[in-house]
Amino acid sequence: MNFLSELTGSFSQNSASNPTVEMVEAAYRHHKLGYRYINCEVTPDQLGDAVKGARAMGWVGFNCSQPHKVEVIKYLDGLGESAALMGAVNCVVRRDGKYIGENTDGKGFLESLKVVVDPKHKNIVVLGAGGAARAIAIELALAGATEITIANRDSNRGNELVDLINGKTKTNGQFFKWDSPFKVPSNIDILVNATSVGMAPHGDERLNLDVESLRTNLVVADVIVNPPNTLLLSDAKAKGCQVIDGLGMIVNQGILGVKYWTGITADAGVMRDALAKVL
Ligand code: NDP
Repeated sequence: MNFLSELTGSFSQNSASNPTVEMVEAAYRHHKLGYRYINCEVTPDQLGDAVKGARAMGWVGFNCSQPHKVEVIKYLDGLGESAALMGAVNCVVRRDGKYIGENTDGKGFLESLKVVVDPKHKNIVVLGAGGAARAIAIELALAGATEITIANRDSNRGNELVDLINGKTKTNGQFFKWDSPFKVPSNIDILVNATSVGMAPHGDERLNLDVESLRTNLVVADVIVNPPNTLLLSDAKAKGCQVIDGLGMIVNQGILGVKYWTGITADAGVMRDALAKVL
């Protein structure tokens, strides 16, 4: 059997809504690359077979979304540095015939943050301790952040991430048990929402945050892609903070994936426009 195009794609549990497809395909078309990006609905019990299928069909690589980011590791041949630290993979790349797991969630965030501020020597609060928070916190630590406070409702998840920061990086990790309105301490430079609060269809949901503690010299970043202009970002703008939306993170992740699979640095504007059309 012959393929006309090199195949890449995504293994996710919900094939109905994956804006990455339009974004990556737009990049392939723009750069006239003979690649395709296909979204496949894969249930957890079929993940091993799906990876075998990708190998059998010669896929160049693929993204994984939750709940596959940790489980997929056992079907791969190796891991990149940050993926190994985080214990989670969202991007698989074929290198010398081997499937290597990378994590572009945190790297995509970092690229988008660096346009506004370098996290080196900064004090940062990350709200949340799930997959996105874990990837972001580890990349921020590897980028030289001085201190990262993880604020989470669930203490076990929060402390596990803090232990990872303290055990595997040079950054000082702190845990905040988030059971009352979070007041951003005055020494904090960057506040990141890495929870799912504010994501459609619950765009009117607010974080448990003391909005009066947002100051003009604070950079506020949100991971939420849809809607991009979250209530947190509106509140932060009204308080004079510099804000960063979740679109930059997903576009940069897409750029990294395309680079890993094709070697081409894709046009960010083309990818952002394609994303904006589907959101
Ligand atoms: P997880 O389910 O792994 O984690 C969710 C986190 O949100 C947990 O820390 C959870 O806290 C917290 N949380 C949920 N509801 C609340 C609430 N009401 N109040 C406070 N905390 C809450 O999800 P992910 O980390 O995978 O994803 C988080 C968000 O990041 C999603 O919206 C996802 O779409 C987005 N994302 C964006 C990307 C981008 O490129 N822009 C890339 C990846 C993800 P607890 O542990 O206490 O339950």
